[in-house]
Amino acid sequence: MKIAISYPPIQSEKGVPLLSQNRQFQYFQSPTYIYPVVPAYAATMLKNAGYEVVWDDGIAEEKTFDQWLKDIEQRKPDVLMIESKTPVIKKHWKIISDIKKVLPSSKVALVGDHVTALPLESMQKSEVDFVLTGGDYDFLLLNLVNFLNGKEKQLEPGFWYRENNAIKNTGQFKLNHSLDDLPYIDRELTKWQLYNESNGNFKVTPGAYTMAGRDCWWRKDGGCTFCSWPTLYPTFRVMKPERLADEIGLLIEHYRVKSVFDDTGCFPAGEWLRGFANLMIERGYNKKVQFSCNMRFGTLKREDYQLMKKAGFRMLLFGIESGNQATLDKLNKGTTITGIMEECRLPREEGLEPHITIMVGYPWETRQEALKTLAVAKTLMQKGWAITLQSTVVIPYPGSKLYAEALKNNWFRFDPKDYERFDMKEPVLNTPDMTPEEVMKLCDEIYKVFLTPKYMLRQLTRIRTLRDVKYSVKGVAKVLAHVKDFGRENGS
Ligand code: SF4
Repeated sequence: MKIAISYPPIQSEKGVPLLSQNRQFQYFQSPTYIYPVVPAYAATMLKNAGYEVVWDDGIAEEKTFDQWLKDIEQRKPDVLMIESKTPVIKKHWKIISDIKKVLPSSKVALVGDHVTALPLESMQKSEVDFVLTGGDYDFLLLNLVNFLNGKEKQLEPGFWYRENNAIKNTGQFKLNHSLDDLPYIDRELTKWQLYNESNGNFKVTPGAYTMAGRDCWWRKDGGCTFCSWPTLYPTFRVMKPERLADEIGLLIEHYRVKSVFDDTGCFPAGEWLRGFANLMIERGYNKKVQFSCNMRFGTLKREDYQLMKKAGFRMLLFGIESGNQATLDKLNKGTTITGIMEECRLPREEGLEPHITIMVGYPWETRQEALKTLAVAKTLMQKGWAITLQSTVVIPYPGSKLYAEALKNNWFRFDPKDYERFDMKEPVLNTPDMTPEEVMKLCDEIYKVFLTPKYMLRQLTRIRTLRDVKYSVKGVAKVLAHVKDFGRENGS
């Protein structure tokens, strides 16, 4: 059997869609291609089981849709797996019809947080054959292909399928697969070169992605209310530190990788972190790669940051989300504003590079409160405690607690089924005293902090090597492109 792991091209004047390995969806004018880790595991597991696998990322390969469809028609896969997100789900329904026209006997499976939240919807509104719910869709896809091939007698929990014109399912998905059983990802099969340069998370290249845990250990009361991935991973699992260290060793030896970004929603702390950091030091990997990951405030102490620096860690991505304590509490973020200020300073003092993310457009936040968030971010940037930042507008995806709250409280600006408008080009929720245009303007306002003489001077003092110069120039170019895009969109 032949299986395609497919990202069909989505042509839009809004830009290039970023939907793989992404907790939020955005169109980018200057594209960033993030390596889809779980689909890459799926491809590797299928190949190891003896199946023919086609890695078919039409987006990263920059194909036109017609070219992609022609190619897939020629390749004739028996099964196609497509990862979807809310803003493109309707486009995927249409694409599935296009696939069915040219390959009527091929089976199509949809995966991702949107279809996990609303599996019946896609079964009813499209010709999709299977919906694989939950985040372990790599294990489920192998189970499906084995089942179709007669090698396994039944489908695991988590499938939606058709039988005699009826829609059926195998019950709630289970996250009971051990991550230590995962194979090392076959990077050649999954065309890792498509993703190893053009990614802001890599200061030096080539870079590669890993994912030690699925997905985030912050699951108190279900995790952050706005986050889309608790839908996929309501519980947390992590592989052994040795397993991750072994994979990094392989990336260094075999692929000459210089940066690794681990995209676990929140990297493990405590004993696990110390064990992993010590392995990086003992094996000398700390001298060969820069390691970056997502982290939460309120978790680590100065000694942890010291050890991480020694172990080759570089960038830590922290979600601030808001400068207002009431908002952090509403989001179930589990952090405090005072803690955030302190926690950005510590890693910075130990030579790590904190990257922060903030959001505006909360349905309960006034303009004054949103400005407070900007002020907190600006302070962190200008003091040099955060190195880079990202500002976005809050988007509640189906399946998240915030989406349910927004439905209940009538916060949506438009029909919540207008999924294509959840693409971060406009706010989805009403705010107390701002127009949608004002929210977007505020969202972009913060990038101007990068253009202030104070920030630029601080950046210049950080430059030590030619690589730093290249990285800073790339960063400034991105900021300018961002501000320019904003000006165009808003006609100013
Ligand atoms: S800490 Fe980050 S990854 Fe974890 S639930 Fe919150 S937003 Fe999601």
